[in-house]
Amino acid sequence: MSSRTANRAIESAELALYGGTPIRRTWLPYGHQSIDDQDRAAVLSVLRSDWITQGPKIEEFENAVADYCGVGHAVAFSSGTAALHAACAAARLVPGDEVVTTPLTFVATANAVVFCGGKPVFADIRPDTLNIDPAQVERLITSQTKAVIAVDFAGQPADLEKILFLAKRRNLIVIEDACHALGAGYRGRKVGSVSPMTVLSFHPVKPITTGEGGMVLTYDADLARRMRTFRHHGIVCPDPSRPWRNEMEEIGYNYRITDMQCALGLSQLRRLNDGMARRQEIAARYERAFSAMDEISLPSTAPDVLHARHIFVLLLNLDRLAADQDEILDALRAENVGATLHYPLVHLRSFYRRRFGYGEGLCPTAEAVSRRMVTLPLFSSMTDDDAEDVIRAVEKIIRYFRRRQIPVGA
Ligand SMILES: *Cc1c(COP(=O)(O)O)cnc(C)c1O
Repeated sequence: MSSRTANRAIESAELALYGGTPIRRTWLPYGHQSIDDQDRAAVLSVLRSDWITQGPKIEEFENAVADYCGVGHAVAFSSGTAALHAACAAARLVPGDEVVTTPLTFVATANAVVFCGGKPVFADIRPDTLNIDPAQVERLITSQTKAVIAVDFAGQPADLEKILFLAKRRNLIVIEDACHALGAGYRGRKVGSVSPMTVLSFHPVKPITTGEGGMVLTYDADLARRMRTFRHHGIVCPDPSRPWRNEMEEIGYNYRITDMQCALGLSQLRRLNDGMARRQEIAARYERAFSAMDEISLPSTAPDVLHARHIFVLLLNLDRLAADQDEILDALRAENVGATLHYPLVHLRSFYRRRFGYGEGLCPTAEAVSRRMVTLPLFSSMTDDDAEDVIRAVEKIIRYFRRRQIPVGA
């Protein structure tokens, strides 16, 4: 029996949600790391060396990512969240400052602002690309605004040129949250070389992984120096020959990454382009299948970007369906397709409602879109059969919940 038939259940039109046979026998997650023998060997070689943390692999990994992205400096951290915190601190964010960002992101983007005592201000998104709308950013800039954090949602770079232009005119710093977008391109340049600071995550579901880990890329040597200090308690060592005569200039944290992790990251980086190409292939297959369905709309890709395809998001046309988002997600998961939602909007989280008084109506486009979004499985080690299973599960569920359209004049 081939692996294809082994994993494929007998097809049934009855939804697995209602007791029918699921499209797949085994669970397909929405994202998954890809680890090979070379990755394992790289980590083992560090375990056999003298340094398991703060050794040579950290700088080697930082330099390799900086070279890949075409930017001068890289500072690695213990997580993408720590990297965001360091970027906000390097931007000299202090209590009372406002930072304009998108509500359609992981909470860490806005939380980093709160860590510094700042106030995240949420600008609505564009309905086509789902990235932050520069016109809405401009509308929200006040005398308190210190920075803009743009997020490259799903791996598609935000409208960086417009945001950078706006920021320059209003004397703001731009932090690009590219946790989804390592490998992406913007107008012929690699993401990481465009904004003053670009933040990456190496969590297992991200384009490459170090287990946990993150990085900030910058072309500014002074910002890089401040972030290295921040990563290590704020301690500086003016004379390396007398390491005991160190000084603590500013408050910092232990946000260091380990050599074991950076060895894994270095090994993963070799496969970044191949993994992205594979995700682009699967995304193209999904788009071909779903663009023919009236019950589904797809976010668009701007003409001047290379989309890294970190996650695949579709939008339900709810007026054509006799089910809501939760029922469609339940139905997909019952078929063993690990569909999910990226993300519940940040301004509607109870902490943000309570702390800043945010609520429904603040970002109408994001609010309407977030009720329609479904994230489908997409990762580089998915097989063609896995992708076909996802398409067949979506088709099965859409067929089941489709509202019959009454032709005009009938
Ligand atoms: C993953 C992610 C983060 C946080 O990264 P961690 O490494 O998990 O701390 C921040 N922003 C976005 C958009 C992310 O996807």
